Amino acid sequence: MSDQDRISEVGNTGAGTTYEEPLLFELSREGRAGYSLPELDVPRVLPEEILPEGSVREDLKTLPELSEVEIVRHFTRLSTWNAAVDFGLYPLGSCTMKYNPKINEKIARIPGFLLAHPRQPDALLQGFLELCYELESQLAAISGMDRVTLQPAAGAQGELAGIMMIRAYHEARDEQRTKIIIPDTAHGTNPASAALNGYKVVEVPSSDEGILSPEAVAGAMDDDVAGIMVTNPNTLGFFEEHMTAISEIVHARGGLVYGDGANLNALMGVARPGDLGIDVMHFNLHKTFSTPHGGGGPGSGPVGVKNLLAPHLPTPVIQKEVGAEGPQFRLENDLPHSIGRLHGNFGNAGMFVRAYTYLRSLGPEGLKHCSEMAVLNANYILARLRGTPYRIPFDRTVMHECIVSDAELSETGVTTADIAKRLIDHGYHPPTTYFPLIVPGALMIEPTETESREGLDRFVDALLSIAEEAKTDPDTVRTAPHHTRRSRMDETKAARHPVLKWTPEPPT
Ligand SMILES: *Cc1c(COP(=O)(O)O)cnc(C)c1O
Repeated sequence: MSDQDRISEVGNTGAGTTYEEPLLFELSREGRAGYSLPELDVPRVLPEEILPEGSVREDLKTLPELSEVEIVRHFTRLSTWNAAVDFGLYPLGSCTMKYNPKINEKIARIPGFLLAHPRQPDALLQGFLELCYELESQLAAISGMDRVTLQPAAGAQGELAGIMMIRAYHEARDEQRTKIIIPDTAHGTNPASAALNGYKVVEVPSSDEGILSPEAVAGAMDDDVAGIMVTNPNTLGFFEEHMTAISEIVHARGGLVYGDGANLNALMGVARPGDLGIDVMHFNLHKTFSTPHGGGGPGSGPVGVKNLLAPHLPTPVIQKEVGAEGPQFRLENDLPHSIGRLHGNFGNAGMFVRAYTYLRSLGPEGLKHCSEMAVLNANYILARLRGTPYRIPFDRTVMHECIVSDAELSETGVTTADIAKRLIDHGYHPPTTYFPLIVPGALMIEPTETESREGLDRFVDALLSIAEEAKTDPDTVRTAPHHTRRSRMDETKAARHPVLKWTPEPPT
């Protein structure tokens, strides 16, 4: 019996209920369908006869044909091959894989939100527009900014929008500035956003303490600098203690300050970027405000600005007008100095409902408690790893994430990637590796606020047992993972010869 026959007979070439899973294309049988429609009682018309030429695709003939139950089982089984935050700790540093409370989903499924169409007239979208308006106001209150746009579809697009507004600001003042200052710990999207706006990136090194020094910024600052991009807390997990002084140095020479707010989950209710001199910043709803991401949903990267940048906000902006019949919400497109539209519609609107729910269900005290627990959990992990084979490159109190280095284990021949893969065998999604770039052998761990102490202990125990194993049985670590459906990929081959399209195997 061939594999193909076995798959179609029992649907499983794995063991027990740990299913092996063929491709949908391999499961396909001609004529099988997941629907049944009544007989037509009107004359049949072929799409080709009524649609303009070229609108009927010819290349869909090879789409797989399956029944509903086959499709449901296929995707449900595949989902069990993946790590997910609902399965266990997902300590991917910088990405903030925090638990997504289920009440967010419940509210997002209220039919008025779920079934709203972005092209409905404003008058029929009042509830949704009010939610957007309120979410903007709450993000502004949390961050100390004056105005917020929800349009950008990810943090990276938020950065792009923010730097576009900085450019529009200087251009409106007839200033041709050419450079953006970025610290060496920055996330890769920061220099990319500056470069996409035509700016030259000036990199400044961080101090021995892992933060920016005012002197380093002053040394790089001149009248050609349009602004600085600072992540706070930074990607080493440290609070930029000199932020106010740095903002003053940049402002004094006419530059603006961009705040990368991806790590706001450590600051909510504790400190406001707007109070530290930040002129424009993005939020990552999918990190800080618990909307699902990393395969679970799209991102959302709202941008907050101080009033001096408000004329450049993307259009449309939501206006609230209080009249005789109560408040009305309206989309304003007439903003002559706007950088324009960034998204075909409102942005990733379903995420606004989830983030708003998160904010309202926690309230100000709850948000502050989240930040405090995120910081406590990261410091607990760091404390447990102190004095172990993992080196701590900057041994200071951290915010929401911590970084350790496995450089001391390198003599065993085991690499950072090997340790990360071996963690999968212990049931964990690996932490971020080899980032930030300035720490060799970096493992960047972000536990988030929802993990229990026992959960954190189990994770640290796994890391310690792998360090031990690296010395006693390095081969097992080097060839991990061993307890997954797919073992280690040939990453070079995957990058050089990616197979992105299924083609039927020629008959043998
Ligand atoms: C995640 C992240 C970004 C980019 O955000 P996306 O939503 O992934 O585009 C930017 N900066 C930092 C520090 C981040 O962690």
